Amino acid sequence: MLNQMLYNGQYVSGLGSEIDVVNPATLDTITTFKSATPKQLDDAVKASFDSFNLWKNISDVELKFILARIGQDIKAARDEIAELITLEQGKPLELAKLEVDMGIYWLEVTNSFEIPIKENKDSLGKKIKVYHHPIGVVASITPWNWPFMIAIWHIIPALKAKNCVINKPSEYTPLSTIRLIDIINKYIPKGVCNIVLGDGEIGSNLSNHPLIEKVIFTGSTPTGQKILASSVEQFRQVTLELGGNDVAIVLEDVDIDKIAPKIFASAFFNSGQTCACIKRLYVHDQVYEGLVKKLVEIADSQIIGNGFDKMTTLGPVQNIKQYQKLKILIEKAIKNGAHIENTRKLILPDTGYFLPPLILTNVLESSEIFTTEQFGPVLPIVKFSSIEDVINNSNHSSYALGGSIWTEDINKAEKIANQMQSGTVWINSHSDVSPYAEFGGWKMSGIGSTFGLDGLLQFTKRQSIHLSE
Ligand code: NDP
Repeated sequence: MLNQMLYNGQYVSGLGSEIDVVNPATLDTITTFKSATPKQLDDAVKASFDSFNLWKNISDVELKFILARIGQDIKAARDEIAELITLEQGKPLELAKLEVDMGIYWLEVTNSFEIPIKENKDSLGKKIKVYHHPIGVVASITPWNWPFMIAIWHIIPALKAKNCVINKPSEYTPLSTIRLIDIINKYIPKGVCNIVLGDGEIGSNLSNHPLIEKVIFTGSTPTGQKILASSVEQFRQVTLELGGNDVAIVLEDVDIDKIAPKIFASAFFNSGQTCACIKRLYVHDQVYEGLVKKLVEIADSQIIGNGFDKMTTLGPVQNIKQYQKLKILIEKAIKNGAHIENTRKLILPDTGYFLPPLILTNVLESSEIFTTEQFGPVLPIVKFSSIEDVINNSNHSSYALGGSIWTEDINKAEKIANQMQSGTVWINSHSDVSPYAEFGGWKMSGIGSTFGLDGLLQFTKRQSIHLSE
C-alpha cells in the first residue's frame, strides 16, 4: 500500500511526525505515514515551480492524450481504488465504486473542454482577443468525505489548464489520493503533479508559500477564511468550496412515495457527510405527516455497518472529531425539544464511529442543528404553510451552497428557485452536481466555482490583447 509523498517525480518519506491512518469502521490502524517537514514542503513547491516552464508549453493534443491515458488507468484500477476509499473513509464499497466512476466521468468531461481564444470587436472596429494562460503552481487541499473524487475535481482542471499542482489530502484519508497521484505521474513530467502529507501546519505552509499562485480548498468555512486572509498580501487566486447547510422545500402537490427515497438518499448518502446534501427540510403541512412517516420507514430499514459488508447501506462517520461534534449537536437539539421520529433502534457495530440515521421534528429553526453545517446522518424537518415565509426563513442562513424544490409544478418551482439565495438550486432532485454546470457557493459557502468550462477557466489568468492597425 502506497503511503509516502510523491514530489519531483519521486516517492519521499516524510521526516516529520508519524500519523496513523485509521479505519473508521474498525478503529484499526491501516498504515502509518510520516508528515512532511517545512523544508520538504519547500523542496516540493520549488521543484514544481521549476517544472512549470516545461509543462505550460505542452501541446493541447498531447495533453488531451495524457489525460485520456490517466482516465484509462484509473478505470483499470477502479476496484482497487474503491477498496482504499472504503478502508480509509468508511463508505459502502458500492458507493466507493461510484465515487471512482464519478471521478472518471469528471476527468473525461473536463478533458473534452477546449480553452477558448475569444475574439470581439468594439464599436470602432478594433479587434480584441481574450486569451487564458496557465497560472503557475496550484495548491490543492482536499477533504475526507469524498477524498478521491474531490482530488480529481481539483487536480484535473488544474492540469488541463497547464498548471502544476501540489495536493495536500486530509491526514485522515490520504491513501486513495496517493494512488491517484501515482497513476498521474506515470504520464507527466516530474514535478508537475505532487502530493505532500501531514497535519498541523503543512496545509497552511503550503497555501502561504510565496511560489503558490492559486489555492483551491474544499472544507470548513473557518479554514477557508484563513486561506482567503493569507492570500491578500500576494493577491493569490483562491477557489473556496466551503460549508453547506442545504435547504429543501417540499410543496403540497408532491407524490410522497416518489420523492421520499430521493430526499432520504440526498440527506443520508455517505452518512450525511456531503457539502451539498439536504440538511434543512421544510415540508408543506398538507404532506408533512405522510412524508415524515415515509422517511422514518426508510431510515428504520437501513443497515449500519462496515462498508465492506455487502448488506451495509450506511457506513460510519469518518473521524472522531466529526463523531463527537455530531453527538453534541444531537444532544443539544433534543434538550431544546427536538423529537426523534424513528421507531426502531438500529443495531450499531460495537466499535467504530457509527451513528443511526435520525429523522428529527419539532426542531427550532434557531437551533444549532439547523443553523450550522452539522455534516452527519441527521435530518431536521420543519412544517410550513406559507411559501413566502419559508423562502424568507430559509434564506436567513449564512450558508448558501445548494437548495431544492419538490413539486409537480415546474414553472412555480423555477419562480421559487429564483428567489432562493443559493449557488445551485435543483428541482425535484438534490446533490445532483454535473461536470457541465458551474458549482459554487454564495455567502459563507465559498468563493469562485468549479465544473464546466467556466470552472476550468478559474485555473487560468485572463489576458486581453487589443489589436490596432
Ligand atoms: P478543515 O475543513 O479545517 O480542513 C482541514 C484541512 O485543511 C487539513 O488538511 C489542514 O491541513 C488544512 N488546513 C488547515 N488550515 C489551513 C490553511 N490555513 N491553509 C491551507 N490548508 C489548511 O477541517 P476538518 O476536515 O476537520 O472539517 C471540519 C468541518 O468542515 C466538518 O465538520 C464539516 O462541517 C466541514 N467539512 C466540509 C467539507 C465540504 O465538502 N465542504 C468537507 C469536509 C469537512 P493541516 O492540518 O496540515 O494544516
